[in-house]
Amino acid sequence: MQESTRHNTGRLAFDVVVIGGGLVGMAIAYGLARGGQRVAVCDGADAAYRAARGNFGLVWVQGKGGRCLPYAQWSRESSERWGAFAAQLRRETGVETGFERPGGIELCETVEELEAGQRLLESLRAQDASLDYHVLDCHALKQRIPAASSALAGGLYSPNDGHASPLYTLRAMQQAFQRHGGVYLPSNEVREIRPRASGFEVFAASGVLDAGRVVLAAGLDNLRLAPMVGMHAPITPLRGQIMVTERLAPFLDYPTLVVRQTPEGSVLLGDSAEHAGFDDGQTRAVMADIARRARTAFPVLAHARIVRAWGALRIMTPDGLPVYEESRAHPGAFLAICHSGVTLAAAHADVIAPWIAGGAKPPVLQPFVATRFSNSTDAHHV
Ligand SMILES: Cc1cc2nc3c(=O)[nH]c(=O)nc-3n(C[C@H](O)[C@H](O)[C@H](O)COP(=O)(O)OP(=O)(O)OC[C@H]3O[C@@H](n4cnc5c(N)ncnc54)[C@H](O)[C@@H]3O)c2cc1C
Repeated sequence: MQESTRHNTGRLAFDVVVIGGGLVGMAIAYGLARGGQRVAVCDGADAAYRAARGNFGLVWVQGKGGRCLPYAQWSRESSERWGAFAAQLRRETGVETGFERPGGIELCETVEELEAGQRLLESLRAQDASLDYHVLDCHALKQRIPAASSALAGGLYSPNDGHASPLYTLRAMQQAFQRHGGVYLPSNEVREIRPRASGFEVFAASGVLDAGRVVLAAGLDNLRLAPMVGMHAPITPLRGQIMVTERLAPFLDYPTLVVRQTPEGSVLLGDSAEHAGFDDGQTRAVMADIARRARTAFPVLAHARIVRAWGALRIMTPDGLPVYEESRAHPGAFLAICHSGVTLAAAHADVIAPWIAGGAKPPVLQPFVATRFSNSTDAHHV
């Protein structure tokens, strides 16, 4: 087990302090600790906004990157890495993330939706054959999912998609991080970061930490923290609402964008995309729409009881793409933002962490810098 060192000031010192212990921060912190860095994670309190604890659990590639091919490739790379990632977490902690990759299906209620989706997927596959997909008409869809409604026009299947339990994934990463000597500091909100000639002082609720490098992975609080290291976090909250049913007999072998069944039998119904500021509550109208869509697709859900529902806030950039950037004004400070923290967890641990530890920035990350925002848009997709 590694030890943090104490400076002659008596303060704890780390190679890297990661600010935020959500899916993004924990994946990067785990990758760093696994690579031999001395790492602390300062996490917020229970009342903080935490998308990591309110999301749908898809490891999703299909349809991403319509206007930015590298985003599709980055998502696919993470999806490819997920199997080994889940296996390593299981070996190190015994925690099952529930990761499965049977491929995913986007359900289409109308022929127009099916055709528009096909055009997008075809344009992506034309640029990169690994972004494969199949069009399923209603008959083919019902062959794969007998419980699907005959009223659906069909679906789009991609072998690159999967799903996992976000909560077990987070738990596994926290445990594995600590097994590699990482120091997890819950309820320890970072109030200020002060760049020094060499490194950073991190002022957290429980005291000051010295850090060689800092990673800003505080979700929506990156808005406040980024200027402290000469950066800008171009993010806004985008609310999503989700409902969960009682446990049902297995009927859905594939994750879809709006309904997925967990290995335990619960069915997640989702989700919405609403500009509601920092309100992470629920509304009757949106939940009614989510229920209608789910019931239309799977009549078996018509009488299922809803046992839980919640709203949560995505961390959304103007074009929906991630940001991975090192501060020019204060090298050693890194900003990490994305709205697909489950999908990208494996790549964050395997690829982003070695870069932050001092490696070369992988070319696939070049588009994901904040300077792009003047001239690009990309429809957000999970
Ligand atoms: C409804 C919904 C559905 C989603 N579905 C999917 C999906 O299917 N697949 C997918 O890949 N992604 C999905 N996402 C996105 C995913 O949840 C996010 O990408 C991911 O949680 C972002 O992780 P994060 O660590 O950046 O932020 P968060 O999860 O919000 O974590 C931020 C952490 O930072 C801490 N923090 C905040 N401020 C401070 C501070 N000052 N000091 C210290 N700590 C601080 C907080 O306590 C929190 O733990 C969904 C999101 C939502 C809202």
